[in-house]
Amino acid sequence: MRVRFAPSPTGPLHMGGVRTALYNYLLARKNNGSFILRIEDTDQKRFVPGAVEYIREALEWAGIVPDEGYGYGGEYGPYRQSERKEIYDRYIRRLLDEGKAYYAFDTPEELDRIRKEYESRGETFMYNATVRQKMRNSLSLPAEETQRLLAGGAPYTIRFRIPENRKIKVKDLVRGDVEVDASVLDDKVLVKSDGLPTYHLANIVDDHLMGITHVIRGEEWLPSLPLHILLYEAFGWTPPAFAHLPLILKPTGKGKLSKRDGDAGGFPVFPLEWKDPRTGQVSPGYREQGYLPEAFVNMLALLGWNPGTEQEIFSMDELVEAFDLSRINKSGARFDPEKAKWFQHQHFQRLSDEEIWKKIIPVTETHLGRPLTEEEKNYTRQILPLVRERLTFPEDFWKWAGYFYQRPEAYHPKAVKKQWKNQTPQILEEVKDVLATITPWEAGIIKEQLSEWIQNNGLGFGKVLQPLRLALAGDLKGPDLFAMMELLGKEETLERIRLALERLPSAKEQ
Ligand code: GLU
Repeated sequence: MRVRFAPSPTGPLHMGGVRTALYNYLLARKNNGSFILRIEDTDQKRFVPGAVEYIREALEWAGIVPDEGYGYGGEYGPYRQSERKEIYDRYIRRLLDEGKAYYAFDTPEELDRIRKEYESRGETFMYNATVRQKMRNSLSLPAEETQRLLAGGAPYTIRFRIPENRKIKVKDLVRGDVEVDASVLDDKVLVKSDGLPTYHLANIVDDHLMGITHVIRGEEWLPSLPLHILLYEAFGWTPPAFAHLPLILKPTGKGKLSKRDGDAGGFPVFPLEWKDPRTGQVSPGYREQGYLPEAFVNMLALLGWNPGTEQEIFSMDELVEAFDLSRINKSGARFDPEKAKWFQHQHFQRLSDEEIWKKIIPVTETHLGRPLTEEEKNYTRQILPLVRERLTFPEDFWKWAGYFYQRPEAYHPKAVKKQWKNQTPQILEEVKDVLATITPWEAGIIKEQLSEWIQNNGLGFGKVLQPLRLALAGDLKGPDLFAMMELLGKEETLERIRLALERLPSAKEQ
């Protein structure tokens, strides 16, 4: 099995493109085949600088690494179509010689005029068997005229001569049988006036020459399939097997997921952040948002495919094992940004403490604006178990544990209103004295002694512990209060209570 991912470098790779690459990769792995990266850049007008590098970096990040292809070597290169012009020239020559393709001299202006004429009559213009004799091409013009035009350097395109009265039948591995009447196809341009082939010609020639056995690509290419089959036939080649993948739909389920949906919904549609070289506009990426590549890949795998079991969490190896073309859905797959986060949470939780620790060090350093000392790094290691199950992204660590590193500057106003009562300052003054006597400073002992004091004084636990938490963390959310105090240390705990008492309203002011 030889499969390929053949992106056009017209911008950043959309997550749908990554999914196409992933499905190809999984199949290649599963069948001990080869996964090839081919860059389809024959459309010079749409080429965007940086896009090829972006594609490679995105695939590497996601762990969808080609075995062969552009940047990876192999025996079927070059793997970039702009470097294969001579090859295409050779093959188009063959079609021309056999009368299966022809020169067309119609200028863009002429074509435009005719198109408009048709439109004004409410018809659609198609360059096909019925009109080709009326156009300016090597089929309609006398041979000498064609020779004269070519010799004189007149601009031309080369078009495919769609055979007449043909029905094209293909089996798509996802869609089933596809049948099309050739009369609905137009004589597609195979070589443009700049001498470069169009996607259709280059794609077919390359798939054949590179020994591709299975073409797995987006559904948007399904309409081109009959043409591709006719091209294979024209060359006398056996076509590969085809599988067209369902679209990825907007979160509403209506229409194809676009960059605009991401902007509106606040989620990325690109694997990596992308800065448009023309506009300078930056689009967010999954990587930069803190997604793990394994979570991203897992989410994409299930967007259009199902394992036929209840299992949702897969590693790449498990995907390779379970993946199968027969379980690709026919209908579009609705993208759910919340579900993407769920996959991230699941995979993040599967990391070891050590792995998470490595990720939260830089987050903490960024927030503090300085590197952590060795001692602080160890402190971070101790904090982690208290908050780890709340973490979905490395960045969440600061949200849940920032107060371990910095005294609260402010106290959550709603919490103050609810928990800081008239008698609170008095209670906390006493708590401070009780805490000052506790040794050793360990969560279990603090809990025991403080609980005893609360009970002896006939106070409710909430009345004491909630304002205490507020004083220490600035908020009511957080891990076990006693573990928190142990980590903060006695002195820091007492100091934070003192600060809160100074800053928050005393009984007299209320
Ligand atoms: N270059 C095409 C694209 O950008 C590839 C389509 C195909 O896989 O045949 O999607």
